[in-house]
Amino acid sequence: MQSSMIPDGSRLRIAIQKSGRLSEPSLQLLERCGLRFARSKDKLFCFGENDPVDLLLVRDDDIPALLVDGICELGIAGENIAEEQRLSRIRRGEPAEYQTLKRLDFGGCRLSLAVPEEFDYDGPEDLQGLRVATTYPGLTERYLKDHGVSARIVRLSGSVEIAPSLGTADAIADLVSTGTTLRANHLREVAVMLESRAVLLQASKQLSASQSEVLDRLLSRIDGVLQVKESKYVMLHAPRERLDQIREILPGAEAPTVLPLEGQPDKVAVHAVCRENVFWEHLEELKAEGASAVLVLPVEKMLA
Ligand code: ATP
Ligand code: ZN
Repeated sequence: MQSSMIPDGSRLRIAIQKSGRLSEPSLQLLERCGLRFARSKDKLFCFGENDPVDLLLVRDDDIPALLVDGICELGIAGENIAEEQRLSRIRRGEPAEYQTLKRLDFGGCRLSLAVPEEFDYDGPEDLQGLRVATTYPGLTERYLKDHGVSARIVRLSGSVEIAPSLGTADAIADLVSTGTTLRANHLREVAVMLESRAVLLQASKQLSASQSEVLDRLLSRIDGVLQVKESKYVMLHAPRERLDQIREILPGAEAPTVLPLEGQPDKVAVHAVCRENVFWEHLEELKAEGASAVLVLPVEKMLA
C-alpha cells in the first residue's frame, strides 16, 4: 500500500467511481470546488495538490465498505448503492454506519419494477408467488414486503433485463433512466421503487479538528457550486411603477437592487440574482411589463 493511503488525521479522502456514469460529474464537482488532483486515471489514488483532500478511484459498489472500514471519510455514490448496501449490511448484522451529507445534481435514475409487455399488471399484488430478478435484492424485498407481497427474489449480478425472455424470472427490478433498455427488451415499467441521485456520503467515525474544518469548507463550496448552476444575474431597465410586477416575474430573486437612471425619473435599473433558471418566457413576460435592455449573465461563483 502506498504510504499516502494511510490515514494521517489531517487529510480527507473521498472515494469516487473510477469509471462509469458518476466518474466525470463527481470529479467535475470537486474541481469546481477548487480542488486539484494529480490525476493518474489508471491509479487508485490521486493526491490533492492544493487542498488536503485526496481521491480514491474505485468501483461504486465498494464505496460503502470503504466508509465503514474507515479507509475514506467521504464518498460519492448513487442512493441506489448506498441504500441497497445499508439494507444488506443490516440484514447480515454488519455495521452500516454512513450518512448522507448532501444530495447532488447528477446520477439521476430510478429503481423500477418492470414486467413483460404482455403481462396484465394491475399492482404489486399481481407478483404474489412469482419470481423477480434484480441486482437490488434488499430494496426489492423491502418494496414487495411494504406492499404485502411475497415473491421470490432472483439475485443476478447483471443483464437483469433479459431474465424474463430467458424464462428465469417473471418480472425485474432494475435501474432505469430513459427506459430505452426496457423497451428494447419488451418490458414495461410499472412502478418506481426508489428515485435515486448521486449523494455525498460520510463515514460515521469522528473527524479530527482539521478534517472537520476542511469538510465544512468543502460543503459550503459544494452548496455554492450547486446554486450557481441554476443561477443567473439579470440586469434590466424598468418603468418605476411596474417594479412589483417585474419582481414577481424574476424567478427565485430575493432582493433585487434597484438603481436610479440618470435623466429618466420614471425608470429604474434592476439587478437581481435569480436562483432558478431564466427562460425565454421570463424575458418575454418582462418585456410585456415594459422592461428593456434585459441582460442575463451566468454566475461564476457564489458564497452565501
Ligand atoms: P462499477 O461498478 O464498475 O463502478 P457500474 O456498472 O456499477 O460501474 P454505472 O453503470 O456507471 O456503474 O452506474 C453508476 C451509477 O450511476 C448507478 O449506480 C446509478 O446510481 C447511476 N445511474 C444513473 N443512470 C443510470 C442508468 N440508466 N443505469 C444505471 N445506473 C445509472
Ligand atoms: Zn457498480
